[in-house]
Amino acid sequence: MLSTMQDEPLSLSRLLQHAAQMHAPSTVTTWTGSGTRTRTYAELGERAAQVAGALRDLGVGPFDRVATFMWNNNEHLEIYSAVPAMGAVLHALNIRLFPEQVTFIANHAEDRVLFVDGSLVPVLAPLLPGMRTVRHVVVVSGDTDALAVPPGVEVHAYEELLAAQPTSFDFPVIDERSAAAMCYTSGTTGDPKGVVYSHRSLFLHAMHVTTPAAMSLSPRDTCLAIVPMFHVNAWSLPFAALVSGASLLMPDQFLQPEPLLELMAAGRPTCAAAVPTIWAGLLARLEEHPQDISHLREAVVGGSAVPPAMMRAFEEKHGVKILHGWGMTETSALGSVAHPPAWASGEDAWRYRVTQGQFPPLVQHRLVDDAGQVVPHDGEALGEVQVRGPWITGSYYSPTGGPADLDHFDDGWLRTGDIGKITPDGYLTIVDRAKDVIKSGGEWISSVEVENDVMAHPDVAEAAVFGVPDDKWDERPCVAVVLRDGAQGDIEALRAHLALRWAKWQLPERWTFVTEVPKTSVGKFDKKTLRQQYAAGELD
Ligand code: ADP
Repeated sequence: MLSTMQDEPLSLSRLLQHAAQMHAPSTVTTWTGSGTRTRTYAELGERAAQVAGALRDLGVGPFDRVATFMWNNNEHLEIYSAVPAMGAVLHALNIRLFPEQVTFIANHAEDRVLFVDGSLVPVLAPLLPGMRTVRHVVVVSGDTDALAVPPGVEVHAYEELLAAQPTSFDFPVIDERSAAAMCYTSGTTGDPKGVVYSHRSLFLHAMHVTTPAAMSLSPRDTCLAIVPMFHVNAWSLPFAALVSGASLLMPDQFLQPEPLLELMAAGRPTCAAAVPTIWAGLLARLEEHPQDISHLREAVVGGSAVPPAMMRAFEEKHGVKILHGWGMTETSALGSVAHPPAWASGEDAWRYRVTQGQFPPLVQHRLVDDAGQVVPHDGEALGEVQVRGPWITGSYYSPTGGPADLDHFDDGWLRTGDIGKITPDGYLTIVDRAKDVIKSGGEWISSVEVENDVMAHPDVAEAAVFGVPDDKWDERPCVAVVLRDGAQGDIEALRAHLALRWAKWQLPERWTFVTEVPKTSVGKFDKKTLRQQYAAGELD
C-alpha cells in the first residue's frame, strides 16, 4: 500500500527561498581584518538570485560544475546558496592543497566556472593554465586586471556580473537524487577522492545538524564557521544555517587566534566549529590574553580526535562546552556527535563526551575485524567502522561513470579506514586510523590515545605520535612534542606521566622536540610527513 503523502523533492532551491523569506533578518557577517561587513538573509536571497542569473548568462546548465577557490565569507555563501539551487554542481576547491593536487581535482571534476577571492588570485594564477576545463574565472572583491588568464578563458568581476542581473530568479525544483555539490577528501592518507552529494543528502544532513542530537541551531544562534567551506562543506553549516535561520560569522582569511578572538568579541557567536588544532591555538592565546568567550554555548570539534584535556580546559577556564564529533568527507560531515545520555552527569558525562559520539538514526553502523567478521558492539571489541545511510557516499566520483576505489566499500557499507569500538548504546570510540595504529610485537598501540595523554602534560603544547620501523618489534611509537614556552624537554618526566596509565611495553622510547607538528591542508596532524621526516633522519 502506498502512502497518501505528497512526493515533494528535498531540493536546495526550497532551502534558499525559505531562508530569504522566513529568516530575512538573520545575518551573515565577514571579518575584514579590522571590522565586519554584514548582509541579511533577505539580501543573501537577492544576491544568490543574481549569482544564478549571471551563471545562466555564462552558459552554465544543469550539473555543470561551478568551483570556488575562496575563504569563508559572505560572497562564498551567496555562491554556495545559488549554485545547487539553480541546478548546477558546487565544488569548493581546497585552497591549501599542493598545486598539482588542486589542478588534478579541478580537471577530474571538470570545473567550468571558477570563483576566486581577490586575495587568492596570486595562488590561483599559476594553477589556471593546468585547469583544462575552466572557461570563466570570476574574481570576487579584487582586481580582474591582476589575473592573466590562458587563451579561451574569460575573466569577470563578481560585482559587475551581479549588478547586471535582477534580484529574483526562477529557481527550478530539482530531482532530490541528483548532484548538488562535490568535495574531495583532503588526501591525508592517499590521493584525493571525489564525493558527490545530492540535494536529498545535503538537505537531510543539514536538518540533522540543526537538531539537538547535533548543534541545536535556531535563529537565536550566531555560528562562527571557522572550518573552511572547502572542508566537507564547512560540515554543512552554510546549509544548516539556511534551514534554521542561525546567523553566520565568517573569518575570511583571518584564521590566526588573535583575529579569531577579535571577531568573537565583535560578533559574540553562540556556537562555532573547527578542527582541534584551531582550538589548541585559541586556548594558548587565551592563557596570555584573557577574554570572556562564555557567549559560546557550544563548539563542535572534530576532523581528528579532540584531546580530553583541551575539552576540560575550555569548560573549566572559559565556560565553553566542546562537543566532540566524528565524520569524514564521505559522511557529509557528521557521522556521530558526543552528547552524553540524559542520566549522566559529572565524571559519568565526561566518559561519554570524550568518545567520538553516538550515531543518529540515519547512520547505520557496524564493526568488521581483519577476518571480515562483524564484531559485537560491547564497548570492547575492535574493528573497522563501517557505515551506511542517506548521507553516506555509496561510491567515489568517476568522470567516466565506471567504478572507482571499490575496496573502500563492503557489501553496500562504506569502509571508513578508522578502527574503533562501539558501546551497546551506540557510542563510538575511534582508537586510530588503520594506517596510523602502531603494531608493536603483534600488539596494537593507539597513536591517538598516547598523544592525548602526552598533551595532558602541562609542559606540552602539542604532540603527535606516529609509528616508526623497529628491528625487534616491527614498529614502535615515536612522539613529536611542541613544548610550551619556558618548559624543559624532560623526557623522563614525560615518560613517568605516561607510565601512570600505560604499560611499560607501550611507553615510547623515541622522543623528538619540534617547533611545530606538520599539519595537513585542513589542519590535522600530518603523520605521513612525520614518518617521512623520521625516515630521512630529519627528526632528532
Ligand atoms: P581526510 O581523510 O583526507 O583527512 P576527512 O576530513 O574526510 O579527510 O577525514 C576523515 C577522517 O578524519 C576520519 O576517517 C577519521 O580518521 C578522522 N576523524 C574525523 N573526526 C575524528 C574524531 N573526532 N576523532 C578521531 N578521528 C577523526
